[in-house]
Amino acid sequence: MTNGVKCGVFLVASLLAAGSLVAQSGSSAPVGANRTETRLPVASGCGSPLVAMASGQAPGGGASKGQLDLSALDKSVAPCTDFFTFATGNWMKQNAIPADYPSWGISEEIDRRNKEILRTILEKAAADKSAKPGSPWQKIGDYYASCMNESAINAARSKPLESEFQRIAAISDLPSFQAELARLHTMGVNAVFGFGSEQDFKDSTQEIADIEQGGLGLPERDYYTRGDDKSKELRMQYVAHVTKMFQLLGDDSTKAAAEAKTVLDIETRLANVSLPIVDLRDPDKVYHRQNVSELAAGTPHFRWTEYFQEAGAQPVTSLNVAEPDFFKGMDAALASVSLDDWKTYLRWHLIHSSAAALSQDFQDVNFDFYGRTLTGSKQQLPRWQRCVNSTDSELGEALGQYFVEQQFPASAKAAATVMVKNVIAALRDDLQTLDWMSPETRKKALEKLNAIDIKVGYPGKWRDYSQFAVNRGAYVENLRRGTQFEFARQLAKIGKPVDRGEWTMTPPTVNAYYNPLLNEIVFPAGILQPPLYDPNGDAAFNYGATAAAIGHEMTHGFDDEGARFDAQGNLTNWWTDADLKNFQDRGDCIAKQFDEFEVEPGLHEQGKLVEGESIADLGGLAMAYAAYHKSLSGKPDVTKDGWTGDQRFFIAYAQSWEDNLRPELARLITQSDPHPLPIFRVNGPLANTPEFYKAFACTEKSALERTAGKRCRIW
Ligand SMILES: [Zn+2]
Repeated sequence: MTNGVKCGVFLVASLLAAGSLVAQSGSSAPVGANRTETRLPVASGCGSPLVAMASGQAPGGGASKGQLDLSALDKSVAPCTDFFTFATGNWMKQNAIPADYPSWGISEEIDRRNKEILRTILEKAAADKSAKPGSPWQKIGDYYASCMNESAINAARSKPLESEFQRIAAISDLPSFQAELARLHTMGVNAVFGFGSEQDFKDSTQEIADIEQGGLGLPERDYYTRGDDKSKELRMQYVAHVTKMFQLLGDDSTKAAAEAKTVLDIETRLANVSLPIVDLRDPDKVYHRQNVSELAAGTPHFRWTEYFQEAGAQPVTSLNVAEPDFFKGMDAALASVSLDDWKTYLRWHLIHSSAAALSQDFQDVNFDFYGRTLTGSKQQLPRWQRCVNSTDSELGEALGQYFVEQQFPASAKAAATVMVKNVIAALRDDLQTLDWMSPETRKKALEKLNAIDIKVGYPGKWRDYSQFAVNRGAYVENLRRGTQFEFARQLAKIGKPVDRGEWTMTPPTVNAYYNPLLNEIVFPAGILQPPLYDPNGDAAFNYGATAAAIGHEMTHGFDDEGARFDAQGNLTNWWTDADLKNFQDRGDCIAKQFDEFEVEPGLHEQGKLVEGESIADLGGLAMAYAAYHKSLSGKPDVTKDGWTGDQRFFIAYAQSWEDNLRPELARLITQSDPHPLPIFRVNGPLANTPEFYKAFACTEKSALERTAGKRCRIW
């Protein structure tokens, strides 16, 4: 599903994917239900190493394993004025963003190193002529080899899609239109709406069918409706981009321009009936369990029973209609937009979803808009890196097995698990002693905390890819079979019990998530790597850099959205009215604080959009700090390199967010993603943290320090 918390993050991910070779399968075969990531996805679609790095080498300008990067500090800035710049300023000055990345920071460094490791594995697999047919080793090797076969890809241009375009051309009425729409959905094409499975919000044991709003080529609905000059200009650039794509398909410039206008008109209609991004974070607004007959009554021009069958689902009798008004609006559009216009729209979405996997001319035009215009990247990643990303996306748990074998020994898993348990213990202490919660709600909160499922490193059971046939033929066909496999895998879940062991991030991913539906926190091996984490490093460093991220995920279980789900992952209210009111007021305090942060003249963080992430940042930092002190077991604080333990803890936290962003990407995130920008993820929570003021001797006259009455605190 693409509802709720996950949506904004995912949109950025799919945009970046469009700049790479990764299929945009997310919206029609949704995975990663409702999860809340620590970080923005690494902008791996648009980056490349300028210098290849040896595996295991600590990246960064002087950052070494498990301790502070002293060379990153900018001592000309007072810590109490702007702690982010104080802790990372020199690093930021010395680390320009590589031409093929939209941002560059610690996540990207680790991601790049992980990708080098994966590249070595994939090259070995691709060269192995004796790989057992059907084995994960054969699949990853052949997939990568087909992706690297640039001459074949360039020679084929858009030919592999020809039969699909012919099918669209042959649409003659609404029933044949929706049959083709179903077919495109199986291929991961995000046209009109998304269909997949999701865990029932109100019965956490069952998977149900789910349909949700979709069908846009711009990041989210407000991109179609904002009236400011920048937004208008971006829409013109988008139309120019769609025009170029139609021209590449052989249409003359006049026809192509008219077609692009048709695409914008249809997408604007869909945007106008879509829920705003802030509302997507409210589980009540995206959960509407309906019988198919009820759905059909509101959408008389769409034959749902036939659609489900055409998409390959078992008969569906009831489902979640995430946004009922969207589907009513879609139905009205079906009745009034001409069939020829719908065919144009489908042609666009087919080419859009495949462009990055076609010949160079398609890739270049695609990158020009989704990479250069939207994120500010200057050039595409080198081919090998895009192919590593694509293999990770389609065969992540086949490839991930080999990554884990090399990079994540059992000892690393054990050490990380201990740290997770220490942070849980800190949150337990906090829940037991909070002064604003009644005993009744406190009991339920503790129940939820004690039920959190901890997943570290990699899944207990690897995904079975036996139904995904991979060969050395056309790359775009391997990719399509990959998206079809994933779509079918999602549909096969409908009506079945929930698999609580499934992961929605691959092992090499430099990120982590909390999933309220499973009440689980998940830390892939990819993020538990130096310099963010080193089991043998300085404790103050590890707690500031990594335990804070662990606390962040845990706190998501108790943010404005996560707190709506109970210990088993059911959407139900376990709060007393008074406690809920108190909790919401405290959340509003954070939303208001973030509303004030200005990204560029006239553009502010959207407090209500980033509220959940910011609650998690503040709570995560507090839990990590408490866990750090607990880990000292009464031993005195040790000063190292002139910094006390508390100071090192806070500097490590800030350095874990060091990240240079291009202005285009900063704008994209602010307008479409529930994560605030890195500088605010540091200065925002620290301004609410008295332990920080004490560690750096800030006074009420300091810019960062908020007077006692203005400070926000929840957990
Ligand atoms: Zn988060």
